Amino acid sequence: MCPWCREVFKALGAHWQHNPRHAPEPTRRQREILTGLLFGGGAYTGPLSTPSVQATVKNERLAEWLETELDSLKVNVRVDGETYYISTPSNPALKPYFQNWYSKQEEPRPPNTSELTPLVAKVWFAVNGHAKNGAIHLRASYAVRNLGWHRELFREVGFNPWRENPTLVFPVEQAKELLDYMGEPLPGTTEEWEQVRSNSSMNV
Ligand SMILES: [Zn+2]
Repeated sequence: MCPWCREVFKALGAHWQHNPRHAPEPTRRQREILTGLLFGGGAYTGPLSTPSVQATVKNERLAEWLETELDSLKVNVRVDGETYYISTPSNPALKPYFQNWYSKQEEPRPPNTSELTPLVAKVWFAVNGHAKNGAIHLRASYAVRNLGWHRELFREVGFNPWRENPTLVFPVEQAKELLDYMGEPLPGTTEEWEQVRSNSSMNV
C-alpha cells in the first residue's frame, strides 16, 4: 500500500515513479542503515530515476530488525533457504542520497551525504563482518577494488584499519575500541561481538 494515497499497488516503485511526491523519504537513521548495507556489499540500482537498495543477509533476527527499521520505506524481505533478500521498492527519494554510489565507469563511491556513524559501521559489521582471532574484518562489496575512502571515513573517527581488499582489518588493539564505538550489538550479532571481547580481554 502506498503510504501517501493509501492505494494498493503490485509495483509500488512504478507508482512512485509516476507520483514522486508519494514516495516515502528515508529518515536520517534509515539512510545510515542503507549506507551500512551498501558498504557491506549491498547493491544500488542507480543511476536510474527510481533507484532501489538491495542486500542479502544470512541471519533471521537481523533480517527482522531490518524489516522493522525500514518498514516506512515499504522494504520487501524474501527468504530462500537461509538467505534473506532485502530490497526497497524503486524509490525516487533515495536518489539524492545515493546517486554517487554507482556509476558504470567507476567503482562505487560514497553516498553524497556519507559520513561514518556508529550505526553505519554496525550495520556493515552485521551484514558482512566477522571476528577472527580477536581482530574485526569488514568485507566490502566485490565491486569495490580500492577501500581507500572507506578507510578514510574510519580515520576521520580515529581508527587506522589496514586493507586486504576487499576487506578492512581492525587488529586486536583496535577491535575492542571499534565495538565500543559501535555501541550495542544488532540482533543476531552478539556472538561475534563476544568473540572479540573475550579475545581482547585475554590480550590486554
Ligand atoms: Zn500513492
